[in-house]
Amino acid sequence: MPALPAGPLAVPDNADTARPALVAGAGGFIGGHLVRTLRRQGREVRAVDVKPVDQWYQLVDGAETRTLDLSRREACEAAVDGVGEVYNLAADMGGMGFIENNRALCMLSVLINTHLLQASRDASVGRFFYASSACVYAAGKQTSPDVVPLVESDAYPAMPEDGYGWEKLFSERMCRHFAEDFGMETRVARFHNVYGPHGTYRGGREKAPAAMCRKVIEAVLDGTGEIEIWGDGEQTRSFMYVDDCIRGIQTIMAGPAVEPVNLGSAELVTINQLADVVEDIAGTRLRRRHRLDAPQGVRGRSSDNTLLRETYGWEPSTALRTGMARTYAWIAEELETEYQLVAV
Ligand code: NAD
Repeated sequence: MPALPAGPLAVPDNADTARPALVAGAGGFIGGHLVRTLRRQGREVRAVDVKPVDQWYQLVDGAETRTLDLSRREACEAAVDGVGEVYNLAADMGGMGFIENNRALCMLSVLINTHLLQASRDASVGRFFYASSACVYAAGKQTSPDVVPLVESDAYPAMPEDGYGWEKLFSERMCRHFAEDFGMETRVARFHNVYGPHGTYRGGREKAPAAMCRKVIEAVLDGTGEIEIWGDGEQTRSFMYVDDCIRGIQTIMAGPAVEPVNLGSAELVTINQLADVVEDIAGTRLRRRHRLDAPQGVRGRSSDNTLLRETYGWEPSTALRTGMARTYAWIAEELETEYQLVAV
């Protein structure tokens, strides 16, 4: 396997550098990191999100920022005007607690991808990337914590996560048929649990890694000495550090078109082990209160990266311990600032 270059990736050889790249969902977690990487590579970037700019997780120098509701066709037409590539990372989503309780909202994201695809086709956009999810996989294949890693074909016969997963599977197929029927260059990756700094860590949309960091930090700062864990903690997952996700998006976008491809870490842990990692980083041990009635998602899930490796010669490699240390440091800084403000 080729060694990974240090620092930001070089601009892919076949990137359309003459025109800006559109990042949809740029005010969000992964979108913000992608904008930053593209700008470091010297690319012109149009960054679009439905949120007002003061609520974006990251603002990157030199990127054009626009607030647009991309579920509307006219907004998509304005967003793609003059761009060479589209990265669709815009969706109404969150962790298990959010997607199990907001199925209709999750499904409405279908409007974003549909209108963006149509507008991109009409504007002769060169390449279109869609961020799908491991939630497309049939629940019946994820009932045991001793997982067999999911291969791409496991998505069919289809029985994805209700709401969010169905929208992702439908939008994947829209990308496929726009490629077949209209000759568009589309790329689809199925992300498996992405984590890192500059994402959401409270409010109901946060995912397990950020939530675990927040709970441990608050248990220390508040002096409660206790954290809540959803379920018995023996459910398994793999977690991908955001730098690997960005590298994967660019690798897939620059490479050949294949069926929707897994983009995830193959390092499998239980949620209890995730808590161990965070406690190690914090240098503490806490009591655990398991909430068995809380949303837990599937029992076990991991990414089989064979297709990714064989097609693109690369796969995510950041160790969970390394990525969680960076994530923990960022959330700790945010929370300590908040606590100091409250104390003043
Ligand atoms: P995020 O919630 O941080 O970012 C999504 C952004 O989309 C938000 O800033 C939101 O305001 C924006 N958005 C929502 N509706 C919009 C609209 N109508 N018009 C314009 N912008 C809109 O989520 P993320 O973690 O950065 O995820 C990015 C993409 O990756 C999403 O499609 C998500 O489903 C997918 N994904 C993420 C993960 C993960 O673990 N983070 C896993 C699987 C798939």
